Amino acid sequence: MTAPVKIHYKEVKTAIKKEKFASPFTLGKYAIAPYMACEHGCLYCDGRAEKYYVQGDFSKDIVVRKNLIPRFETEITKLREKGIISIGSGITDPYQPIEKKERLVRKLGRILEKNAFPATLLTKSSLILRDLDIWKKVNENAGFILFISLTFSDDRLRQIFEPRADSVESRIRVIRKFKENNIPVGVLAMPFLPCISDTRDAVTTLYRRLSNVGVDFIVPGGLTLRPGRQKDTFLKIIRQKFPMHLGTINRIYHENRSSGSSASFYQEELSRRIRRVESGFTIPPVVPHRIYQGKLPKYDEVFVLLNHMKTLYQRRDVNVAPLDKSIAGYLSWLNQEKTFYNRRRKIEDNYVDIKLEHQCRTGGLSKIIQNEKLEAFLIDVILNRNVFDPLALKLKKGDAVITA
Ligand code: SF4
Repeated sequence: MTAPVKIHYKEVKTAIKKEKFASPFTLGKYAIAPYMACEHGCLYCDGRAEKYYVQGDFSKDIVVRKNLIPRFETEITKLREKGIISIGSGITDPYQPIEKKERLVRKLGRILEKNAFPATLLTKSSLILRDLDIWKKVNENAGFILFISLTFSDDRLRQIFEPRADSVESRIRVIRKFKENNIPVGVLAMPFLPCISDTRDAVTTLYRRLSNVGVDFIVPGGLTLRPGRQKDTFLKIIRQKFPMHLGTINRIYHENRSSGSSASFYQEELSRRIRRVESGFTIPPVVPHRIYQGKLPKYDEVFVLLNHMKTLYQRRDVNVAPLDKSIAGYLSWLNQEKTFYNRRRKIEDNYVDIKLEHQCRTGGLSKIIQNEKLEAFLIDVILNRNVFDPLALKLKKGDAVITA
């Protein structure tokens, strides 16, 4: 008999976790998670790893942050810097079963709607359809992007590895519904499991299904397996259901890296395989610029865009060392300006954007990023509001195409 789920109510001191820079992954500069641990209990979940300090049984001891809503309501009005709030994380699903009763995410959505704050949300659950009305309004007022996590197209595999998460078909239905309501949707196709769901056929089938429902982007990724609880749980199911793959999987993770990374030969092989599959579709592997432009301050937009460009060029085997240098220069400038801004409560809220535009107009940007070609490109983005196409790797203005 399996143990029952236990709910633990805990008070939080602060609701919003603030980061200095927007995340190129979730786009969030702010993060909020109503629960800790996750009843979905995916057998590969990184959230089980000791580094996250989740107490008890990861899929049975669920923490509800009970005073989160009043705290959030107060804190959001005090945020000086605009930016995306990302809901959920890779180690807890905001729409796990307890949300049916607690309705914390629904209440968060209402507050975001009232305060016109943009958001991104990551889930595997079709319970989000209950709140489609709210996310539609958040999207219209400020912007909303849904990240659905889906790595299998075969529901039999999903049942083994994601026993209490929604079926593949349910998640496809969520994508369809959000797209019908003009809300951007991307898929986190991760982790592809070695020997199980990482084959060329499996990846192609998944991409085909997602392409048919019109997802805006697919971010693929492999499995990280941290030594300890996460690795033990995963290998247990491999021994039971896929003993024929145990040797290969052990070889891929034999280094027992604390980061959980696989051996480099496998990373390269998987990345090549995914790129071959991607080339048959027109779906970018990062959130397209057209989706987030205008939803975050220009200085954050540039930071996210530069990081996405690095990912995209790396995938085409372009040397990104010059871009790395530009990103480092930009980050150092941004850090300085933000420190100045944060120390002075009386300067205008869009101070850093004004400074960035000033650098574009006075030739200062090329000194910051040490690259004249990139400077011209960024001026087109910042001042002329042109949009970078992640597939063509070009800027688009109306029908015209400008090479970066
Ligand atoms: S839904 Fe996400 S957070 Fe929850 S167990 Fe699965 S992978 Fe972990």
